[in-house]
Amino acid sequence: MIIVGGVAGGMSAATRLRRLNEQAEIVVVERSGYVSFANCGLPYHVGGVIEQRRSLLLQTPESLAARFNLDVRVHTEAVSIDREQRVAHLRHVETGETEALGYDRLILSPGARPVRPPLPGIERALSLRDIEDTDAMVAATEGAATAAVIGGGFIGVEMAENLLHRGLNVALIEAADQVMAPLDPEMVGPVHKLMRESGIDLRLRTSVTSIGPDSVTLDDGSTIPADLVVAAIGVRPDTALADQAGLRVDRGIVVDEFHRTSDPLIYAVGDAVEKVDALDQSQVLVPLANTANLQGRRVADHIAGQPGRGRGVLGTAIVGVLGLQIAATGWNEKRLREAGRPYRAIHTHPATHATYYPGADDLDLKLLVDPETDAILGAQAVGRSGADKRIDVIATAITGGLTASDLADLELAYAPQFSSAKDPVNMLGHIADNLRTGTSHTIQWHEVDGTRPRVDVRTPKEYADGSIPGAINIPVDSLRERLDELPDGDLIVYCAVGVRGHTAARLLSQHGRTVANLDGGYRTWSSAQLD
Ligand SMILES: Cc1cc2nc3c(=O)[nH]c(=O)nc-3n(C[C@H](O)[C@H](O)[C@H](O)COP(=O)(O)OP(=O)(O)OC[C@H]3O[C@@H](n4cnc5c(N)ncnc54)[C@H](O)[C@@H]3O)c2cc1C
Repeated sequence: MIIVGGVAGGMSAATRLRRLNEQAEIVVVERSGYVSFANCGLPYHVGGVIEQRRSLLLQTPESLAARFNLDVRVHTEAVSIDREQRVAHLRHVETGETEALGYDRLILSPGARPVRPPLPGIERALSLRDIEDTDAMVAATEGAATAAVIGGGFIGVEMAENLLHRGLNVALIEAADQVMAPLDPEMVGPVHKLMRESGIDLRLRTSVTSIGPDSVTLDDGSTIPADLVVAAIGVRPDTALADQAGLRVDRGIVVDEFHRTSDPLIYAVGDAVEKVDALDQSQVLVPLANTANLQGRRVADHIAGQPGRGRGVLGTAIVGVLGLQIAATGWNEKRLREAGRPYRAIHTHPATHATYYPGADDLDLKLLVDPETDAILGAQAVGRSGADKRIDVIATAITGGLTASDLADLELAYAPQFSSAKDPVNMLGHIADNLRTGTSHTIQWHEVDGTRPRVDVRTPKEYADGSIPGAINIPVDSLRERLDELPDGDLIVYCAVGVRGHTAARLLSQHGRTVANLDGGYRTWSSAQLD
């Protein structure tokens, strides 16, 4: 067996293969000088959070030889594959020595390459993909006072945080109108606010047009000082070897459910391959560590004759930004709308745990549901804690085929310091069930316009502190006595997060009014107004 790429997918395949087959001759070739390193920890070493560089190096060729009897060759690039002869041509990147190595099975896990747009001065921008990049970035931060990070995806926001942590003045420049594309805009508004409050100069709807010796120039004509420039614009599957070998490649290497390429003796996994979307079975690129690791294991199983096949991917992901957890699974509302797929959105803002126990914080949760089948289509969570477990529970529910209403029935671990007796995931299930059965009707933040009268059912103090323009204030506790003060027509009611609004809506509908509760309340609406 030859495995090309010795990090996430490649090393998972290699070690699993060895556990299943003690006799196999397994060679792992890796172009860089390191294998099995912690890509996901690289930004935190640049930031000084992971102090020791050696902490990033999980294995060495020697340790892998000792435990797994793997022949691991670093600084070795697979430059071409002769499929007819079943030979891989290798070249040592330092000495230039070449070797032709025969294979019975070949596994490609070459990963992805950072996108480098053709900007004037782009050669000064650093990307972060491997240990060598990390060393270069750490060296570049020495003596640097200012940094410009181009791109507000996962790696861009992690880099902005870590450079800030290192004491640099940081600008983050993002061409879209939001960072963190997997989230919908009303979920990410508070993230923008926190980034700005923390001192990051966040420029949205802005592109870098050129990179100078100590600054970057933006498309609005302004310049930002930048001793260090980080390009974090995304990654593209590294298909060079697969292209050369004449394997089927579309946006990534095309594989079947067992991760076989168009040549059944050659498998491919990880960031380089197209994956099958769990919701619509389309081909998607999902460059994440968990899928790469899982696919590596599946390939080893298949080669060893073990049953099992690849599943569709949800793209479940999480990132930490300045103390916030931002997590998502499945599709977001933007993608559902673009695809013309019907959906129902649910927002809720529960406490992370029982509010009477110290330390409870707010959690922003969003669930997307198929209105016909009640299937869960996706979820997003933002909060200082607890976002991870809620998204993981929902991702598990999607994989297990549970409906949105089923979430109400999940028995989830509870004690006051960890959750509430009705966990936020249960609450999503209750809301979904009420909507499914027609017990309640909601309206979304972007549907609030001047045509329907709005009733704010919070306290006068909350109302005075900020309300939706044109809303009148009748607190929910006095609503029964003040029904005659309500305006005519179909009503919108709202409260802080949707809970009192739901009670008000139920009361009013039982008094014959047509009423919709603002989903997620004032909090979702006002988050959507943040830039
Ligand atoms: C900075 C950073 C942070 C990340 N954080 C997270 C995170 O928090 N969570 C998450 O889920 N994912 C994260 N990821 C993504 C995750 O690391 C990748 O999805 C995962 O590593 C992909 O595994 P892979 O095996 O496909 O590719 P890689 O792990 O990138 O390994 C590919 C290896 O193949 C080698 N190679 C390529 N071509 C050849 C060749 N021809 N010959 C020899 N060797 C070759 C490359 O040198 C490379 O080392 C992060 C990535 C980066 C860069």
